[in-house]
Amino acid sequence: MAPPQFTNSNGQPIPEPFATQRVGQHGPLLLQDFNLIDSLAHFDRERIPERVVHAKGSGAYGVFEVTDDITDIVGSAFLDTVGKKTRIFTRFSTVGGEAGSADTARDPRGFATKFYTEEGNLDLVYNNTPVFFIRDPSKFPHFIHTQKRNPETHLKDANMFWDYLTSNPESVHQVSILFSDRGTPASYREMNGYSGHTYKWSNKKGEWHYVQVHFISDQGIKTLNNEEAGALAGSNPDYAQEDLFKNIAAGNFPSWTAYVQTMTAEQAKAAPFSVFDLTKVWPHGDYPLRRFGKFTLNENPKNYFAEVEQAAFSPAHTVPYMEPSADPVLQSRLFSYSDTHRHRLGANYTQIPVNCPVTGRVYNPHMRDGAMNVNGNLGATPNYLATSNPIEFREYALQEDQEVWHGAATPFHWKATDDEWKQATALYNVLKKYPNQQAHLAHNVAVHVSAADASIQDRVFEYFTKVHPELGAAIRKETLELSPRK
Ligand code: NDP
Repeated sequence: MAPPQFTNSNGQPIPEPFATQRVGQHGPLLLQDFNLIDSLAHFDRERIPERVVHAKGSGAYGVFEVTDDITDIVGSAFLDTVGKKTRIFTRFSTVGGEAGSADTARDPRGFATKFYTEEGNLDLVYNNTPVFFIRDPSKFPHFIHTQKRNPETHLKDANMFWDYLTSNPESVHQVSILFSDRGTPASYREMNGYSGHTYKWSNKKGEWHYVQVHFISDQGIKTLNNEEAGALAGSNPDYAQEDLFKNIAAGNFPSWTAYVQTMTAEQAKAAPFSVFDLTKVWPHGDYPLRRFGKFTLNENPKNYFAEVEQAAFSPAHTVPYMEPSADPVLQSRLFSYSDTHRHRLGANYTQIPVNCPVTGRVYNPHMRDGAMNVNGNLGATPNYLATSNPIEFREYALQEDQEVWHGAATPFHWKATDDEWKQATALYNVLKKYPNQQAHLAHNVAVHVSAADASIQDRVFEYFTKVHPELGAAIRKETLELSPRK
């Protein structure tokens, strides 16, 4: 086959791509040289805004398969038959760092999966930790800023980091997981994904449950210690990207088993915590995990920018029978994720192939025009629901026992109570079962907090003493060794 001919973006053949039009042999350039101007102007516009969180990521395609009947819990079509397969795309990421930051940073990992189902795209936008730092959505920008750079020094700042966390103690459960070795996973393949939030699933009879979903790694959990993660951040900042790409390219396909925990409305009322509280897990012993599927990542993207950088996930992208719960952080993410994509990629971001629902699914005649509209814009179809162009209306079955909310519009700040420490203490007790993990938690905090001022350090000692006095004492001892007080 003949090699392709070089053209400008307009398709005009350019016989000598490196030539520029100039006056004579050595004179100034000419504005009429569209090949040069086209190249430079496009180059100048190569970057789109990076995500404000989850900027550094890696992705791959794969397949989800239903392994166990789950139709008593959920009526979604892609889960209706054991053995049914659905194509997926998963993107893993760190949270706080910029697009070029190190993959091994101590940070939660994003774990977002898009299911290309026959009822539209379902995005499950999860993390590798089962809880989060906040449960008041208005805290999110404040919290994230404290994990990013100081506005004056442009440095990561241990004072900002710990000042925020210790004064917002509902963070302690997530902080304890983050500073365990699970805060530095050995690879994206060797970590779990958790919904964290409570969702609502219903079956075809209209019966509903609150659910939490767990993706458990079939590779097992592997972590780095603080020093290994720090060394890799310097020697190979793209460590996790390389691991994922090379394993898939070599046919060593990673897989996860999907489980669901369920609660009825009555069980939720009786639970010792709110199911809308993102800082709490549902203990495995009380709410057992039920297996329903497995997914495998088996295909690398061909183009990082087109498929990974432009992948646009949102918890608002859902399918029939799966709904958000009233968890306030989830409710705010429903807006914020899609809003980010409109800003980064434009109003037509779902037309980009990696984001596009299975062909033929989108029929929304009033949603027209906008920047980068590339799918034919529904041609001559009327741009409103016209009588000349009828659609099929369906009636939804009324669900008699749905949640009912009443009350005035109320300013609500979910203040911390003494309960915040209970599940962090449970975690500290779990760590005892794993060699050195309690000691690593204390060490990992001490190394980080030794860069903070003494008054902030004292608050950190108190914060972890409430998790366990032994933990607080170990952190204090090592911190003062690393940063002796005068
Ligand atoms: P269980 O004893 O039944 O389960 C403990 C779970 O802890 C394990 O199954 C494992 O979850 C997880 N775990 C082990 N090491 C770590 C670590 N370094 N960081 C985070 N999680 C770890 O206890 P409970 O269900 O009663 O939960 C006790 C604590 O375990 C919780 O407070 C929470 O911090 C943590 N946890 C609980 C989860 C849940 O959904 N109940 C999920 C994950 C953590 P896995 O099998 O998912 O890897």
